[in-house]
Amino acid sequence: MEEHEVLIMTESLNESGDGVFDPSALPLEELRTRCVSELGLPKYRADQIFAWIHRRGVTDISKMTDLSKELREDLLQKARIQTLKAEKIRKTSDGVTKATVRTVDGHLVETVIIPEGDKVTQCISTQVGCRMGCGFCATAQMGFTRNLTAGEIVGQVSLGRQLAEKTGQRISNLVYMGMGEPLDNYESVRDSLLILLDPHGQDFSTRKITVSTAGHVAGLQKLAEESFQINLAVSINSPTQEVRARLMPIARRWPLSELMQALRIFPLQKRRRITVEYVLLSGINDSLEDARNLARLFRGIPSKINLIRINPFSGCPYMPPSMEETERFQDSLRRAGYTVFLRKSRGAEIQAGCGQLASG
Ligand code: SF4
Repeated sequence: MEEHEVLIMTESLNESGDGVFDPSALPLEELRTRCVSELGLPKYRADQIFAWIHRRGVTDISKMTDLSKELREDLLQKARIQTLKAEKIRKTSDGVTKATVRTVDGHLVETVIIPEGDKVTQCISTQVGCRMGCGFCATAQMGFTRNLTAGEIVGQVSLGRQLAEKTGQRISNLVYMGMGEPLDNYESVRDSLLILLDPHGQDFSTRKITVSTAGHVAGLQKLAEESFQINLAVSINSPTQEVRARLMPIARRWPLSELMQALRIFPLQKRRRITVEYVLLSGINDSLEDARNLARLFRGIPSKINLIRINPFSGCPYMPPSMEETERFQDSLRRAGYTVFLRKSRGAEIQAGCGQLASG
């Protein structure tokens, strides 16, 4: 078992309950405001602290050497940057790494690093468990414990960076597709995006970050208003309200018609497309009629389709269709003019495949 110390941040000054300030949990604007109003510091000090933490990966305030000794001592009294441990690091033969990470209050979450060609994608979690209850997902079986803070989300990326560097790689893409429904934890996800996109910090490009949702329409509307210009993925899994509501309880709260309306007006950057995630379940959503209806559903919405054959996990009631049936489904969508990828189920041997993350 390998152990890594990772940057982890509590959500806010007030949340810690003892008035201790955690500078690493905040987007730069908020950190500036806090520094000015609560610590009586000029704004540029916030920029220095932010760069130390998010650009250089330094979480020990005493090592922030361009701050005066007095200021560092003062900050050490008023600020606390918390760390978390990576409990278990597992690797597959084809290079996928799954890290199980323990939060400061003892919960386990998972993040997965997937190298592919010159891309290294990290899949990050946003909640401990998930309350969406999708029938084909291992995380759903855990139930819901709590939201992750923005710091805990960014902390996974810090860990990913350390792990990738060990093998001479660099995380190039981030997908919010791990444990949890990102838009069910909107504020933390928004703050984590602000931190990750900030040029003073990790400086990710909007083109390299994808947030995935199971169809949380209220969150989609808020995300649309922020105009982050990141990529969007949506997990559809059936073109009919009836089957979708059976597979994904969130569809009872926000029916397919409402979801499609939100997707139609979602502000996409030029030449970008929404990624449609579709988990194929034998005999449930894999007929040619389903393929034709799916093609009809997304007509007029810039989109590409990712098909994923379900990775059965312990207790999972579904099986994947045969390769022949999968290809028929894929061909039907291609003939309708869609770009369709059949996602390889990488990481399945260590339960790091899609829908398999369950802190095991
Ligand atoms: S598929 Fe996503 S939204 Fe659905 S239960 Fe699993 S983690 Fe939650």
